Amino acid sequence: MIDVLIVGGGGAGLRAAVAVAESDPSLKVAVVSKVYPMRSHTVSAEGGAAGVIGLGDTLDEHCYDTISGGDWLCDQDAVEAFVAEAPKELIQLEHWGCPWSRESDGRVAVRPFGGMKKMRTWYAADKTGFHLLHTLFQTTLKYQDVLRYDEWYVTKLVVDDGRVHGVVAVEIRTGRIEAIAARTVILATGGCGRVFPFTTNAAIKTGDGMALAYRAGAPLKDMEFVQYHPTGLPFTGILITEAARAEGGWLINKDGYRYLQDYDLGKPTPTPKLRSMELGPRDRLSQAFVHEQQKGRTVDTPYGPVVYLDLRHLGEGKIDARIPFVRELCRSYQNLDPATDLIPVRPVVHYMMGGVHTDIDGATPVAGLFAAGETACVSINGANRLGSNSLPECLVFGRRAGIAAAAFARSHRDGEPPAVRSQGADERRRLERLREGSSTGERIADLREEMQHTLEGAAGIYRAGDVLTKAVDTLAELRERAEEVRLDDTSTAFNTELINLQELHTMLEVAQTIVACALNRQESRGAHQRTDFPARDDAAYLAHSLVHRAPDGTPSVGLLPVTITRWPPGERVYGRD
Ligand SMILES: Cc1cc2nc3c(=O)[nH]c(=O)nc-3n(C[C@H](O)[C@H](O)[C@H](O)COP(=O)(O)OP(=O)(O)OC[C@H]3O[C@@H](n4cnc5c(N)ncnc54)[C@H](O)[C@@H]3O)c2cc1C
Repeated sequence: MIDVLIVGGGGAGLRAAVAVAESDPSLKVAVVSKVYPMRSHTVSAEGGAAGVIGLGDTLDEHCYDTISGGDWLCDQDAVEAFVAEAPKELIQLEHWGCPWSRESDGRVAVRPFGGMKKMRTWYAADKTGFHLLHTLFQTTLKYQDVLRYDEWYVTKLVVDDGRVHGVVAVEIRTGRIEAIAARTVILATGGCGRVFPFTTNAAIKTGDGMALAYRAGAPLKDMEFVQYHPTGLPFTGILITEAARAEGGWLINKDGYRYLQDYDLGKPTPTPKLRSMELGPRDRLSQAFVHEQQKGRTVDTPYGPVVYLDLRHLGEGKIDARIPFVRELCRSYQNLDPATDLIPVRPVVHYMMGGVHTDIDGATPVAGLFAAGETACVSINGANRLGSNSLPECLVFGRRAGIAAAAFARSHRDGEPPAVRSQGADERRRLERLREGSSTGERIADLREEMQHTLEGAAGIYRAGDVLTKAVDTLAELRERAEEVRLDDTSTAFNTELINLQELHTMLEVAQTIVACALNRQESRGAHQRTDFPARDDAAYLAHSLVHRAPDGTPSVGLLPVTITRWPPGERVYGRD
């Protein structure tokens, strides 16, 4: 029997696998991933990973930036642990072979990043996630005991009597459906940007782990906090990393004006400065875009209104040395060269602050079930994540979850309960019935599109109660219609339609929780801005949203206090010294 089964082969999942293998070589570890691990979304991270490295910086300052950036919704005990452990993890990665960029004197290089008032973002040019994930992947190969289920899709958690006992998964290549017994399960399945139509997220980011946990009785936390990144390419949603602004890029409107100076984010500086206004936090920058649009100062394109990112003054040399991938992406996908042309950009859904409710060691309220990485909400990101905090979060809490799951597995040496076989058989019957065909005529893609546009309309950068209320009904109806969908493709080998249908179900459940939490929070905080409740309301809402799945399958939202240790709620101030 597997001791620790990890669902997800991205940064959080692989870091957890190494932690288990290192903590006790006698434990059996498995990594199940719906794509080959190196294709996980972590590979596409560009800008960097934050960790205090000295240079006049302190752990307390990283804590403060994170907490104020999160509009005081972060659990401060989790932030303190995160900030203290992040530099150790980044150095550990260096020892495992991660090629961090360096200064000419050999020191690790760091760059400024949005909302961070000191330079503390480590990077490997602008391919940080690629190098980080390679390093973790090759490190897992050292351990014979890490079993891999590559291209297996988990459809269900086996839970009996309040404890997890494994998963049911489909081998995508053959269609084989198997119940895999395990003493503990760590969900490391990443985010759910794909519930929106315009996102930087890979097609695989469909919130599966969030829905698996939610269906199994674990609550989700702070689901209304959806991060828009201010600079996505207008047609594809491909991210132009914040590193482009960290290296000195400017945001200008249709008049060539650096408009951020009008939004209390600082003054225009000719060269990049730590507190330069282009490095404000992402929520504020995305909101500023909407105001520019309302003032008629954006440029209309067939793919929506845009502003421009101007890198021309950086020169070819700097662009090629520091952000070569930005140039590559612009050339390949936008047919322009940032050394000579303006880059059209608009805000794009990027990251979920919310996720599976866990404690500081990744444990969920379901015994034996853990979560880490973007799918979890520990919570260090509060109402708005700071760029470059997510990769180290995957490392710090992936490791913590791995160690905690290993300890749980060691203290629960019992055998496989009958529930594994019986729930596996039920799930096999459910999935096989879908393959029996006789479609109702509804298309997966149509339902998905309706869901995505509903979310964009109701739970975008600005939200309002009446639109959210309508979205609740639309999503309930979409879920009913999705239940009726049967498959046109009845084959077993690489039946991607079967996987897409499961993903549609998980996205719809996650979408319902986003809308329900957004409706319940009658205030504006961080990335959650209500036009009908424009102010932050600490008296009523200095609290996490906690959403359970009610017996009838609908979301039921409550509140949970935020942990405050040393930083009482205050004003978020940027651009002023
Ligand atoms: C374009 C882009 C750039 C970014 N840049 C940065 C950056 O510079 N710095 C930073 O800090 N953050 C950045 N982020 C955010 C950060 O990269 C992610 O939040 C983080 O990598 C998520 O890692 P993860 O391990 O939680 O999940 P992922 O890397 O998304 O991995 C999820 C894993 O779960 C598996 N999985 C999912 N569902 C199932 C299922 N049902 N069955 C089996 N397996 C499943 C997948 O196969 C995959 O292996 C960026 C994000 C994007 C999209």
